[in-house]
Order: sequence, then C-alpha cells, then structure tokens
Amino acid sequence: MILRCIECGKEYPIDEARYRCECGNLLEVVHPLETLKKKLSRKLFDERLARRDFPYNSGVWRYKELILDIDEKFIISRPEGNTNFYTSGKVAEYVGLKDILLKHEGENPTASFKDRGMTCGISAAKMLGFKRVACASTGNTSASMASYAAMAGMESIVFIPEGKIAFGKLAQALAYGAKTLQIKGDFDDAMQLVQEVCQELGIYLLNSVNPFRIEGQKAIGFEVLQQLGWQVPHWIALPGGNLGNNTALSKGFKELYELGIIEKVPRIAVVQAHGANPLYRMWKNKTSFTSVKAQTIATAIKIGNPISWKKSIRGIEWTRGVVEEVTDQEIMDAKAIVDASGIGAEPASCASIAGVRKLVRAGIINKDEKVVAILTGNLLKDPDATVNYHLGKLKGIKSNYANKPIQIEPNLEAVKKCLK
Ligand SMILES: *Cc1c(COP(=O)(O)O)cnc(C)c1O
Repeated sequence: MILRCIECGKEYPIDEARYRCECGNLLEVVHPLETLKKKLSRKLFDERLARRDFPYNSGVWRYKELILDIDEKFIISRPEGNTNFYTSGKVAEYVGLKDILLKHEGENPTASFKDRGMTCGISAAKMLGFKRVACASTGNTSASMASYAAMAGMESIVFIPEGKIAFGKLAQALAYGAKTLQIKGDFDDAMQLVQEVCQELGIYLLNSVNPFRIEGQKAIGFEVLQQLGWQVPHWIALPGGNLGNNTALSKGFKELYELGIIEKVPRIAVVQAHGANPLYRMWKNKTSFTSVKAQTIATAIKIGNPISWKKSIRGIEWTRGVVEEVTDQEIMDAKAIVDASGIGAEPASCASIAGVRKLVRAGIINKDEKVVAILTGNLLKDPDATVNYHLGKLKGIKSNYANKPIQIEPNLEAVKKCLK
C-alpha cells in the first residue's frame, strides 16, 4: 500500500500523515492488486460473511485487504455495514421502474454511511499515533467521528456551520463528547478552517479529503455486489455533496474489476441538489469546475465547493456514469414516498430516489434495468425537515404528500368521525 497523487503520480509512504501532494492535489491509497489477485476471491469474501468475530463481522473489514491492510490491534470497529436492501412497490412505481433496491446505510452504528469511512479513518489515526482528530461537518461526519473517537479514547473537535445543522446530528456530536465549534460561516468556510487548524496544531483531519475515509466507504459497493451474489446491477444512484462517496464507489468497482472479481462495473448516477450543484453544472455544460454558494434543505449535501470533485469526475468517467440535479421540492416529495413506504431516510438520501425518477423519465435509465439506490442516512437524523413537511411549514415547498396530525376532543364520537 502506498499513497499516490491523483494528478502528478508522486508517491508517499502509507504511514505519512498527509492528505495532499506537494503539488496540492489529493492523494489516494493504491493497493498491490497484482499480489492480491492470488489471495482475494468471491469465495474468500463469502466465507467471511458467515463469521461473527472481529474484525470480519464488519461490513467494511470483511474486505480488509482492499480497505486498509493493517495490524488488527489498530482497528476500531463498532462493527459497521451489513446494511439491508429494501424493495417497495410504492417507491418503484414512483420512480417508474419495475423494481428498485434501496440499500439503507442509515442502519450503520451512528445512522449514516459515514461510519464506513470513519472506522477506517480512525484506525489510520491510531496507526499513525494521533490523539486528536477533527472534521468540518454538515452533521453526519461529526456524529460518526465523535463516536469512533470516543471508542478509540481520542479527543474530537468538530467544526459545524452556523444556522441549520440537523438536530439529530448535533445531538450525537454533543452526546458522544466532541468539542463542537459552531463557526460564523457555511460548510465551505468550516472546511477551509479545519484544514488550516489541523495543519497548524498537528490534529488528524477526518474529512473525506483523508484518503482512508474513501477506502472505508468503498465497502458500500462491495457489499451491494456481494448481497446480489456478485451480479452487477446496471446502476447505482447516490447523492453527491463533498463527493467522497461516489469517488469511493467507483474506485472500489474499478479495483474489483482489475482483480477479475467482477466482469463489468455498474454505472454511477450522482444526484446533487439544484442549489448545491457544482458537479452537475460542470458535467452538464462540459465546463471547468466552479464552486457555488450552496442552498438546499438537504443539509448533508449543502456543499458548494466539494473537495473531491476531481476524483469524482474521474470515477464517473470510469463507470460511464451520469450527474443529475433535483430540486428541494423533488427531494422532499421523494422522501415522503420513501418514508410512507415504511423505509424512511433523511432528505439528502432521497435525492437518490428523486434523481432516479428524473433519469428514468429522461430515458437515461431504462425501465427494465436493475437499479440500486443508496439511502445514505436515517430518517431520525432530521426530524425538523420531516415534521415541518407534514405540517406544511416548509418555506417554498409544497407538502404534496402531507400526513398531518389531527387535533380532536377526547371522546369516541370525535375518533369515529376522523376514522370514517
Ligand atoms: C455525507 C452525506 C452525503 C454526501 O456524501 P459525500 O461523500 O459528501 O458526497 C449524503 N447523504 C448523507 C446522509 C450524508 O451524510
């Protein structure tokens, strides 16, 4: 394993605490795939699937050799992953497909997919000997980091943007004991600041600029394939914010392909919120990257200057992927459908569903193609968005599928009247 610059190719040792090349571009972990070819197989991963012992009981560390092949004494695992697939006639009909599989990453220990990257990032921090970790976060990264840091006995510092951070996420960061610094600025300002702070104070940075976060998140894709008996779906749809997750999935698929474990790669559909769509603009208009001032109700993807845009675009090219955008109205309506199907997810997660619907309508996704959509976070993360939608209190958003609470007198007659 080494670290390599995605732009100039300069290499660094894996145990050097570094996120960027001297040339300023991001680094990625390179695994010795030629050597691993002899060791890794579908069979090996399937055997580990039956194990209940550390670390193979984790849906990340089951694929250890492709994640971070380190001494087990450094691994901090809760364990994460092993999340379920759901199908729903209601959701399938809504998006216009015969079938759609929803992989619920909200079933991770701190209720978002961030745990997959975090188990790897914190384990790397331990390997490197750090005692303090930090991140900028719209909420889920801080919730996850705070929990894993507490388990590892490390101090954690989170930088959150002013104004809206979803209540469930803030609660987690505080409860798990992170020093929580709310800055006067948006996520992109917080991201800028935390990089400076970590550099100056020797704190380990655990945003997805950290190459090990990406490695852990690849396991979402590995698990999808293993759950499908290694049958490759046509599409995987997921929301895009800082663009680490889609970067991870495409990197993982490329590696499996190069190892000969799969014969083709799924196409990736990255869905951004219309108000935070710099990747979409770049991809659609074939222009150079320019950041935007982000605005969307889906706070987890309210990011205007995504750190991983270069890695992300490269991965979209590898997988013949596409980028789509959806409005807040489309996100919240899709969420109402996902929620009412009994599955439930936070707003950003449902951008996947709204995006698939749009891509099916545009004829880019074929009606009989197999599609997996990633639900990135749990319904309970953002109770305000959910309740206010059903109460009709979201500014600029129509509550098309509202399920309002009804106030009644405490007697049988009143109940009967309501249930008629
Ligand atoms: C972090 C997050 C995203 C965005 O993922 P990126 O890797 O930043 O693109 C989407 N949904 C949820 C719930 C998240 O927590």
